[in-house]
Amino acid sequence: MASELVIVYHRQPYEEVEENGKTVFRENKSPNGIVPTLKGFFGHVNHGAWVAWKLAEDPENPGFEQRVEIEDAQGRYTVSRLALTEHQVREFYHVSSKEAFWPILHSFKERYNYDPVDWDNFQEVNRLFAEAAAEEAAQGALVWVHDYNLWLVPGFLRAIRPDLRIAFTHHTPFPSADMFNVLPWRKQIVESLLACDDVGFHIPRYAENFVSVVRSLFDVEVSPPVRVPGKWFTEGTALTERVMHERITHEGHETSVSVCPLGVAVAFIEDRARRPETEARVKEIWQDLGQSKLILSVGRTDYTKGGAQQLQSFERVLETNPDLRGQVRLMHVSVSANRNMSSYEDIQTEIEQIAGRINGRFGTLEWQPVALISRAIPFDELVSYYRAADVAWITPLADGMNLVCKEFVASRVDGEGVLVLSEFAGAAVELGDALIVNPFSYRAMDRTILQALAMEGSERSHRMERLRAAVAENDLGQWGPGRLVVAPGPKRAA
Ligand code: UDP
Repeated sequence: MASELVIVYHRQPYEEVEENGKTVFRENKSPNGIVPTLKGFFGHVNHGAWVAWKLAEDPENPGFEQRVEIEDAQGRYTVSRLALTEHQVREFYHVSSKEAFWPILHSFKERYNYDPVDWDNFQEVNRLFAEAAAEEAAQGALVWVHDYNLWLVPGFLRAIRPDLRIAFTHHTPFPSADMFNVLPWRKQIVESLLACDDVGFHIPRYAENFVSVVRSLFDVEVSPPVRVPGKWFTEGTALTERVMHERITHEGHETSVSVCPLGVAVAFIEDRARRPETEARVKEIWQDLGQSKLILSVGRTDYTKGGAQQLQSFERVLETNPDLRGQVRLMHVSVSANRNMSSYEDIQTEIEQIAGRINGRFGTLEWQPVALISRAIPFDELVSYYRAADVAWITPLADGMNLVCKEFVASRVDGEGVLVLSEFAGAAVELGDALIVNPFSYRAMDRTILQALAMEGSERSHRMERLRAAVAENDLGQWGPGRLVVAPGPKRAA
């Protein structure tokens, strides 16, 4: 069936597991993160489709059903799975995307690796995604493409289906021209994005950087921001009004640049946080902690998340503040997602070494300063830790949005808890009432965690009240393709 909304995202929208010799499609448990969020949009249309890839040993004879009909809590939709070879996946995802694009997007020039990129393969995989999307899309449908590993899809798609409305959303930071233009394929990438009707970002700074990159590469017309009613979906949904940031006209085609910060499902998280099971689990966690306060840090193992820098700060703080020993514990959740990539294995090893050193230097039989956890914690359990923590310490060196900090705030139905947040997480734009910290500064990192641990109850609850209002304001339900929310800049830590 032709679809009015086609979502193009490289991962499949469910977990595919074998049960009693049969393949079963299982829904993700957490309502947060991009996959469950995007599926929610199928509720706005009669029929939707999702284009993802699936590993095929032999692409001529894929050995699995290419298109599957899924029916889950979000509705009915088709999933079209592109059969990619192991080589194609490695080159397009692990090499081009993770070794070349990811470091540039997060402003880590020194980690950028140009040599191994197979640009022909990257183009080919993107072309295949575009063709699969074109096959699913009804006349005039909206095709919504996600993230940098599919940068070239809009260009290919526009060439074969000029009737479509095409939106592209970045979930990473977008750097300034000095950084982005390190990519030798910069013109082709930007030209493809300018084939979209809308290019979206989570915060205004990334959109401004994108416009500056476009200006540095092409002679374009840029109009000032305008407010227009959107017609992306049927009337009556939250998405009928949007504000465009700027409009770029390139070779007669107009592209709006929009900003809409991704939120979390506040009501869902609050419900989880209030459940008696959660309350009971929180009490257990407190019992295990004894008199120690709990600092919670949660993220993927990635050099952009600043895990090593944070642990180093904790070590310095314990060294210079002996009175804290035995009084505070750091639960450092660093989930390894990219097991086969050497740069991620190195960072995991570094984190393990520092955590081990801290425990060796300061730990006693009764008290272990760092609990390092490398496996993913199920969402309900995570909510219990969010509820139990005295401080959430979220200090990425660069992060498109960061949902963990918003989930922490949404979980604090008790109005308690302190959030320490890096100014380089996209979420800092909305969460100026956190203790905002520059994770590149040793002094600021050490001072801010001490400030968080010592914060008076009245300041804690005042800040948390305002943080909760900010997270509710940009609830997940407000998010969509191309809707501008102008937010004030973050307040700096004193
Ligand atoms: N998460 C989880 N279990 C864990 C660690 C993380 O379920 O042990 C989830 C977390 O709830 C959040 C997501 O993973 O929804 C991480 O999203 P975020 O935007 O913070 O970071 P990303 O990994 O997308 O860069």
